[in-house]
Amino acid sequence: MSPKDRSRVVRWRIGFLPGKPVQCWCQRDGALTTISHLMECFCVHPLLDVPITMTIDPISYILNKFPKNPPQQQNQKEYRSRIWSLICSLLFDIDNCCHPQVFLPPRIRTQIAS
Ligand SMILES: [Zn+2]
Repeated sequence: MSPKDRSRVVRWRIGFLPGKPVQCWCQRDGALTTISHLMECFCVHPLLDVPITMTIDPISYILNKFPKNPPQQQNQKEYRSRIWSLICSLLFDIDNCCHPQVFLPPRIRTQIAS
């Protein structure tokens, strides 16, 4: 995990990301970068396999579920590696969407395509 990835996770957890809503890059009917819109815009619920009925945002839900100790079993290690990579990519995309003055190509869509 890079320092920038760590910064995005911390900013997400303390509520500084997404920050003040701006126009979303999807430009759908004047959509703003609120958490609820971003979850829909980036298809976060199906990506993280979190039920849409959750009252908490799916990224925080997954972060809350992380165990405090390193995983011991191989399938748990693989799951954590995969889900952590997805969360870092999502937060990268959300950060870039909310701060459009430095536009970078979205990671998650590139990752899904490969
Ligand atoms: Zn959008």
